[in-house]
Amino acid sequence: MFRSCSIILLTLVAFPLCVSAGEKPYLSSGAHAKLIDRLSCQVDDPDTRAHIKPRKYQYGKSAKGKPLIAYIVEPAREAARQENLYLMAAQHGDERNTRKVLEYFVREIRTLSADYRNERRVIVIPVYNPDGYRRNNRLNSAAVDLNRDFPSSDGDETNPKAPETEAFMALMEKYPPKHIYNLHQPFRVVLYYPEDLELAKTFAQLSDYPLGQGVGYPTPGSLGTYAREKKIPIITVELSRSMRAAMAPFIYEEVRLALFNAAFGCIPQHAKKSRLETYLAE
Ligand SMILES: [Zn+2]
Repeated sequence: MFRSCSIILLTLVAFPLCVSAGEKPYLSSGAHAKLIDRLSCQVDDPDTRAHIKPRKYQYGKSAKGKPLIAYIVEPAREAARQENLYLMAAQHGDERNTRKVLEYFVREIRTLSADYRNERRVIVIPVYNPDGYRRNNRLNSAAVDLNRDFPSSDGDETNPKAPETEAFMALMEKYPPKHIYNLHQPFRVVLYYPEDLELAKTFAQLSDYPLGQGVGYPTPGSLGTYAREKKIPIITVELSRSMRAAMAPFIYEEVRLALFNAAFGCIPQHAKKSRLETYLAE
């Protein structure tokens, strides 16, 4: 008992003082379970018959005319302040399992009842770059890297060039982001800017991914740079390496609780039960 308390104390107090690139904020299994308990959604009046129904919303078209789709969970009640949470994947079309992870997530959201604290609008984009995804290519069909196409002080002044970026910027105009979680592959790390440490740390502790402050090469015009300049907190999650479809359930299992907490600000009771076996059986 005493030992796990000291671990929690060390985590809460000492960790922000000693964080550095590549640090692994691993928790013991006991401390991990306590963190999940602490982050559990508390609802006074759960309606176990009502299920969340994400709305399919087309926010634009790709360069090849493919629909750009977001799944939107509306707030259960009108919140005083609008909180729009973005989870997005496959900005790079060859990062196959980022898409699968968010598709599993959207499916699992549908199984949740009102046993959650949904005061946010959750916007999930499983395939940001449908043209690239179709060709298993990092770039869109006009050879634009969609994660280098944002207007930022270190980028190209003619950005954005791609309709995918224009559409996403219009979506952000309509629903100003509170936080953005952008899934990539393959580095298995939670990348963050120093001001977003708390968000990143919770994601890392729930997923057991290490924290890091850069991929090791410059990324001018990236969504991360753009968001930081707009003071929008953004976490770039590099998922585990494998692009094989068979590995998708395992990669989802690594990050699912972290995704729930990122989206809803707490972990719904239903989400605590793993669905790994269901996805493996498919
Ligand atoms: Zn990427």
